Amino acid sequence: MARSPTPLRLDPDRPLILLSNDDGIDANGLAALAAALDDLGTVVVVAPATEQSAVGHAITVRDPMRAHPWPFDGPTGPLWARAVTGTPADCVKLAVQKLLPRRPDLVVSGINHGPNTAVSVLYSGTVSAATEASILGVPSFAVSHCSWDPDADFETSGRVARTVAERVLSEGLPPGVLLNVNVPDRSFDQLTGFEVTRQARARWEEEFEERRDPFDRPYYWLGGQFINLDDGLDTDLHAIKQGAVSVTPIHYDLTAYDELRRIATWNWSADALSN
Ligand code: MN
Repeated sequence: MARSPTPLRLDPDRPLILLSNDDGIDANGLAALAAALDDLGTVVVVAPATEQSAVGHAITVRDPMRAHPWPFDGPTGPLWARAVTGTPADCVKLAVQKLLPRRPDLVVSGINHGPNTAVSVLYSGTVSAATEASILGVPSFAVSHCSWDPDADFETSGRVARTVAERVLSEGLPPGVLLNVNVPDRSFDQLTGFEVTRQARARWEEEFEERRDPFDRPYYWLGGQFINLDDGLDTDLHAIKQGAVSVTPIHYDLTAYDELRRIATWNWSADALSN
């Protein structure tokens, strides 16, 4: 028998915590996150109906979006949850601007199955859900578990997420700044601590494998390896390698401030337009 949708009951004395992700609403990492944050406030879930890894900050503008009531069990009972036929950024936008009766106090995205370090931040749907919250003025962080193991255990990352959530709820975050948290694949007792880091300079050494479909047409499959080009001791990749939780403050203003003045010295006279 179908369960009737869980009603949303707000408690004015407790923070409203919105969870999202990019692995999809049924992902184990999201369930672990909900379990870990349950007693910090009223936890609600608005997450993509299907996996949206590596969609970056895409939003849906040419298709209808639906938000289906979804059965989602928390540790102390069913949570209010919606599965959205859209991207992670869509989920947070729709939740904050339409679905929730008030602004959340915190948005947490994850727990992603796999790291989101260095340049991967740009491709990550997990980070983008948190970024969208930041754009909307809600404190937020993304949390990723650094393992590709299909049976990855998200318990350690859940406990870390809880600590970070407590910090962000008590300290707040400057406008436009969010935290990108990566947790090493270790048991909780084996973690060496927290490191506040910068994104490492790294890139994907990519290879497109060419294959043939049944009609003999070529298709391409992206693979490759992540190469660290940065030997700094203050990077996200270094922290994780040392067994520490990496916490990187990031922002979405991509302006290269260091270069503004230099580029402004180029010839930008109106005459240049007619040449
Ligand atoms: Mn993912």
